[in-house]
Amino acid sequence: MGVLKSMALWFDSGVTTEPVPKEEFWKIEWTRIVPMIFMHIACIAVIWVGWSPIAVCVAVGMYVIRMFAITGIYHRYFSHRTFKTSRFMQFVFALLGASAVQRGPLWWAAHHRHHHRHSDEEEDVHSPHQHGFWWSHIGWITTRGAFPTDYKAIPDLVKYRELRFLDRADLLIPVSLATGMFFLGVVLNAIWPALGTSGLQMLTWGFFVSTVCLLHGTCTINSLAHLIGRRRYETADDSRNSFLLALLTMGEGWHNNHHMFPGVTRQGFYWWEIDITYYILRTLSVFGLIWDLRAPPKIAYEHKENPIVQERTSVRDPLNLPTSVHANPAT
Ligand SMILES: [Zn+2]
Ligand SMILES: [Zn+2]
Repeated sequence: MGVLKSMALWFDSGVTTEPVPKEEFWKIEWTRIVPMIFMHIACIAVIWVGWSPIAVCVAVGMYVIRMFAITGIYHRYFSHRTFKTSRFMQFVFALLGASAVQRGPLWWAAHHRHHHRHSDEEEDVHSPHQHGFWWSHIGWITTRGAFPTDYKAIPDLVKYRELRFLDRADLLIPVSLATGMFFLGVVLNAIWPALGTSGLQMLTWGFFVSTVCLLHGTCTINSLAHLIGRRRYETADDSRNSFLLALLTMGEGWHNNHHMFPGVTRQGFYWWEIDITYYILRTLSVFGLIWDLRAPPKIAYEHKENPIVQERTSVRDPLNLPTSVHANPAT
C-alpha cells in the first residue's frame, strides 16, 4: 500500500476495503502507526513543560474516565452487549469510548469478539501463549491485518450509521480532545496563573501521558491477564483473575470470570473482587440511563461443589451466557 493511501487511512479508516493478503497480514503498517509512536514520544515533553498538581490531577481523571469508557462501554456494552441502553446514550457512549484513542467502537468490538471465539488458540491475534508477551501486549495492534474492522463479527452494531461514521473517522474525537486539553491549559493559565499550568503542559499530561498509560493499562488484559493470577474456572483458554490488574483496569482483571461468563455485566463476582466499572454501571442504571444488566448465573457460585468446564471445541458466543459449559464433568 502506498504511503499516501496509508496516510488517508488516518482520517478515514474505511477509505479502502481491499482485503489484506495473507502474506501481508502480520506486516507492521509503519505509516499508520505514526500517530501511536508520536503519542509515546510526546510524553518525553514533560521534561520541558514541567508539571503542576492540576495537570497531574487532570491526567489521572482522564485515565479513570476513559478506562471506564473502555471497560464499561467498548468492552461490556459494544463487545458483549451485557446491558441495554437507548440509541442516544449508545451514541454518547461511543463518543466517550472514542476519546480513549483505541480506534473506533466497531473495530474494538469486532476484534474483541474474535478474541473470545479463539482465545489462546492459533487464530487469537493477541495471545501471549501463541505469539509471545510483547506481541500480545502491543505488537499485534501495529499489523496490517489488525487494522480493518470485520463487519461480519458485529452485525448488531454495524446497522447504526452514527457508529459506522465514528469508526471510520477514528481520529476525530482524539484530535478534538487533544485540542481541548491545550485550550484548557491556556484558559487556566490566563484566569488562574497560580495553578502553574500552560497549554502545552496540559496537552502533555492530560492527553499524551494519560492516553499512553491508558493504552498500556488496557493492553495488560491481553497480555498479563492470560499469564498471571488464579484460575477459578476451567475455561478453554488460560485467562486468569488478578486483583492487581483489576485495580489497574477498574475491574477487568477478573478475566477468568469474564472468559467463563462473557455475557455478564459484572466481572468481580464477590464483594472482595473490586470492580469499579460495575459500580459505575450500577449507578447509571439507578438513573435509568442503562438497564437489563446481566447477572452471573447460579452455577457461577457453585463451582466448588459442581466444577464447570468450558469446552474448547464448542462454538463460543461472546454475546451470550455460557451455553458451552457443563457442570459435573464426567471426565
Ligand atoms: Zn482474554
Ligand atoms: Zn471480553
